[in-house]
Amino acid sequence: MSTVLSAGPFFEVLPGWLPTAQHLREASLPAGPLAAIMLDVARIRPAGKWHPVSPGAVPAGCVRVRRAVADSRALTRRQAGLLAGLELCRACTAQVRPRGRAGAYLDLARHIIAARAWTQALEQAAPSADWPACLRWTARTPFTDENVLGLIEALAGDPSWEPARQAGATAWQELRDRADTAQDQARVAAGPPGLRAHAAAACALVAAQQDTIMENEIIGAISSAKLQWRNVPVPSQAWGAASRAWAETICLDADPAAARTALADAVEQIYATAQVRDVALLPTAPAYSGDEFSSPAEWAHAEYQAVRAVTTRRWYQRLEAALAEVHDQADDAASQWRLLLIIGWPPAAEGDRELAYLAHYPELIRTPQVPTPASGSECPSRAIVLLHVPGFAARHAVAHQSPNLTATMGAQVAAGSTPSPGQISALLRYAAAIHGRHNLTEASAALGSFQVSGE
Ligand SMILES: [Zn+2]
Repeated sequence: MSTVLSAGPFFEVLPGWLPTAQHLREASLPAGPLAAIMLDVARIRPAGKWHPVSPGAVPAGCVRVRRAVADSRALTRRQAGLLAGLELCRACTAQVRPRGRAGAYLDLARHIIAARAWTQALEQAAPSADWPACLRWTARTPFTDENVLGLIEALAGDPSWEPARQAGATAWQELRDRADTAQDQARVAAGPPGLRAHAAAACALVAAQQDTIMENEIIGAISSAKLQWRNVPVPSQAWGAASRAWAETICLDADPAAARTALADAVEQIYATAQVRDVALLPTAPAYSGDEFSSPAEWAHAEYQAVRAVTTRRWYQRLEAALAEVHDQADDAASQWRLLLIIGWPPAAEGDRELAYLAHYPELIRTPQVPTPASGSECPSRAIVLLHVPGFAARHAVAHQSPNLTATMGAQVAAGSTPSPGQISALLRYAAAIHGRHNLTEASAALGSFQVSGE
C-alpha cells in the first residue's frame, strides 16, 4: 500500500491522493469508466512532480505552476491516465474531481481503498490490543461516514456504472464486516480490567483527597523560589511521579513493598538534591534539634528529607487502602454498580488512557460524535456516553482530572439489571446543571430511543 494512505487508528482519506489501477484491482473494484479519463499534466523541472493543469493556453494549477508561467518558463506538458500512478503534486491533485458519476466513483474508490488499508492495520493490531488501543481504533472509523452510502447511491440509474456500483457496495460491506470482527477480537484481547485499572483507580482516588493535594504542594514549594506576584506557580511534580511509580510497580506482581520503594525513590529522584528555599514551610515541630548539623542549611536539608519521608509513607498507606477498597468493590459488589455519564468519549488522549478500560462495561446511550473545542489530533470529535460500571470505576472516572472529558456519577443500579428512565433522566439533568448544557440535549434525544443492549 502506498505511504500516502493513513492506516490508522484515526481514519482519514487524504485529499491529495489518487488511486492507481493496481489499487482498484486489489480492492476488487473495476476501473470502469475511470480508466478512460485522461488528465492534462505539466511539470516545471525535468525530474519534478506533475501538476494537473487545464488544457488551455494558460494552465491553471497550484502556486508553483502559476509562478513558473509568470516567469515564462517552458512547461513540459503531456496527457496521462487518471489511474496511471504518475507522480503528481499533491496540492493540485486535491483539486482533481471528475464530474458526475465518475467523480462519485473516484471518491468512493478512494474511501474504500483507504478503508481497506485501515482495516488491514486493525486486523494486525487486534490480537495484541489493550483498552487504550481499542478506543483509539473506534474513535474515528471509516464506517461511521454516511457519505459513502451517498456515493454508492449516486452511481445508480446508469447501466454502464452498475458493475462499479455493485462492486463498491459489496467491497464496503465486506470491509465493514471484517472490521467488526477485528474490533470484537481486540476487545477479547484487551480482556476484563485487571490490576492495572484498579491501581489507576486507586491513584485517582487518592489524588483527589485534600491532604494529598496539600502535601504535594508543600513538598514542591519548600524548594521552589518564592513566588513573586507576577510569577505563575510551578506545579509540584512529587505526587505525579510518586503515584506513577507506585502504579507501574504494583501492576507487575502486586508486591506492595516494591511499590513503596518505587514511590519513595521517585520523589527522591526529583528532590534529593533540591535546596530548601523557604524554611518557613518546614514543619513547626522539627524532626531534628539541629545540634548535630554544622550549618542551618544542612539542618534544613535534613528536615526537608524528613518531610518527604513522612509524606511518602502517608501516600503509600493511602494508596494501599484505596486499592483494597477498589478490589472489594470490583470483586463482590454487583449491587454497587453505578450509572456513569461521560461527556467527551472516547478517552483517546494520552492523558486519559487509564480510563480506557471503561469501554469494557455496558454502554447504554451514545450520542453522535460532536467536534469539541479541546479536540486535537489525538481525538477529533467526542460523544456523550452513558455507561453502567462497577462503583470503583465510576468513582475513578469522577476523580480523574482531564481537560478532555467530564464524568458524572448517577444512581446505583445493580450489575445486570436495567436502569429506569427516571434514573437516567435524573443523571442527565444533574450533569446539565453542573457542566452546562453542552450537547446534553443530544443525550436526551438519544434517551427517546433508549433501549438496553447487551446486558
Ligand atoms: Zn501543483
